[in-house]
Amino acid sequence: MSKDDDNPPPTPDEIARKLGDFMKANFGDSVSFSAMPGPFGGSDEHDLRSDSNDSAGEDAPEPRNDGGIFEFDYHPRDIKAHLDRYVIRQDEAKKVLSIAVCDHYNHAKYLRRLMQEDAHKARTLEFAKQNVIIVGPTGVGKTYLVKHIAELIGVPFVKADATKFSETGYVGADVDDLVRELVRKADGDVELAEYGIIYIDEIDKIATSGSMIGRDVSGRGVQTTLLKLMEETEVPLRNPSDIQSQMQAMFDMQRGGAGAPKDSINTRHILFIVSGAFSGLEKIIAQRMRAGSIGFAAETRDVPSMDEELFRHVETHDYLEFGFEAEFIGRLPVRVVCEHLSADDLMEIMKSSEGSLIRQYEQEFEAFGIRAKFEDDALRIIAERAAEEKTGARGLMTVCEKMLRDFKFELPGTSVTELTIDAELVENPLKTLARYLEKSAHVTDSKTMAELASFRRRFAESHNVRMSFDNEAVARIEEMSRERNMSVMQLCEQLFADYQFGLKLIQKNSGQESFVLPVDAVERPDRYLSGLVVKSYRDQGHTDDDDSTANAVPETIELPPRADGPSESEGDKS
Ligand code: ADP
Repeated sequence: MSKDDDNPPPTPDEIARKLGDFMKANFGDSVSFSAMPGPFGGSDEHDLRSDSNDSAGEDAPEPRNDGGIFEFDYHPRDIKAHLDRYVIRQDEAKKVLSIAVCDHYNHAKYLRRLMQEDAHKARTLEFAKQNVIIVGPTGVGKTYLVKHIAELIGVPFVKADATKFSETGYVGADVDDLVRELVRKADGDVELAEYGIIYIDEIDKIATSGSMIGRDVSGRGVQTTLLKLMEETEVPLRNPSDIQSQMQAMFDMQRGGAGAPKDSINTRHILFIVSGAFSGLEKIIAQRMRAGSIGFAAETRDVPSMDEELFRHVETHDYLEFGFEAEFIGRLPVRVVCEHLSADDLMEIMKSSEGSLIRQYEQEFEAFGIRAKFEDDALRIIAERAAEEKTGARGLMTVCEKMLRDFKFELPGTSVTELTIDAELVENPLKTLARYLEKSAHVTDSKTMAELASFRRRFAESHNVRMSFDNEAVARIEEMSRERNMSVMQLCEQLFADYQFGLKLIQKNSGQESFVLPVDAVERPDRYLSGLVVKSYRDQGHTDDDDSTANAVPETIELPPRADGPSESEGDKS
């Protein structure tokens, strides 16, 4: 698959010879350059192979003995359950992909076993690969699905964009680089890479039909190139037209020693998943159905009105008319549709997907010592605005990023430790930000804030309970640290030395995980905590008449005696 067959690239030996000559001409005999024979007993035999189908035979790799993908033991249901944790909706795509992946990797496992029993049979066994074509708009989880599948089953995964392909290469390099990228993702494990997943988006852009998208000639060329990969071919591990790769091959050869490494990767077991929005395909389907010429519409003349519904009736013939070669589309037997995401779906993504953007924002604010809390009314507006963007879940990022940008810039380093993202903030972000800043304005010492943040972080890490302070509390802490001539850290460690006991008790009673402490907690820490604990028992529904001593509401809570520092009564006096 080299770009220029008339002008074949130099072999490592030629390069070595040329370099040797160059050294000699420039440095005389003071520097020598030696190309040692490689592990193959003579470098002449080590010409890099171009793609051909022949090497899948005799020199096929010995199967590995360790587990990995060859111990594949998932059922489609397991894979779908895993996807359900991250991907909202797309149930049909989840099911179809789960089945395709199970079939593909069960077959790989079977072949591996067969290889040990009857290598010839294993090599010649016919198997139609379950390559997948996903039709769906942008941002609805197509990549996300594939990525999570690859992660779950532990195979390398590479994504590319078909619009970047040309007949001769991919972003200045070769289409084969996709396969080589799999090896890189597999940390050089060629055998694992041979079972990887290649995902190509925007595949509809390489359709050739004149009436649709106009890439006619090159589109067909790219289809043919991809077809080769999807069928079976040997891709050289090093790009034959890349001089650096060739040099690397030479050095590897010199290093030698570890037995004969594979110098190419076979694509027979690589799973290909392609996708695209296929705009225009729905018209072709509708036309066919209306005409009633092929199957479906013969039974019913009702043509579904929604695009998604239409896509469900897609047939091979429609893809051909759209501009795909029969051989190409024939290599993609598994077909599925991913649905548009409604505002409700986007809301659901924010609330329950494990990879939710909201959790990402919470973590980002948390790194600045700010606890961000998204309220449902805000999420609803964000979801509705994101839906208007028509970029699927990507719209969520656009909306949130714009809305929270200034908060992320302005709040870190102020006394703000709690940020509530509610409808008011979403509707008037600048006004809300100004209010936050105004409230925090009286605390100007950034050292105080830094020390407080590190105290809070340390407390959360040691005790698994989060505490933060409201503005008044922060101001009082700053004042007290000056009065007592103590650092903020020392002061907090003293004031809240026993807080983990009480807060954990409350956490147990109420499930509350974070506590915002007011100025009262700073001035009378024990009394404040004791009050909180009592309240948590009350809120739990226990009364003083409760028979059960275990659950009776205590009047006061005895905290362990303090190791040092002034007593509370002292604090009261000050
Ligand atoms: P595409 O369909 O264009 O491949 P992606 O899968 O790359 O879109 O989606 C972009 C991001 O949006 C994902 O990384 C994920 O965070 C989020 N996302 C998209 N669809 C879903 C979904 N159905 N459920 C949960 N998150 C989603």
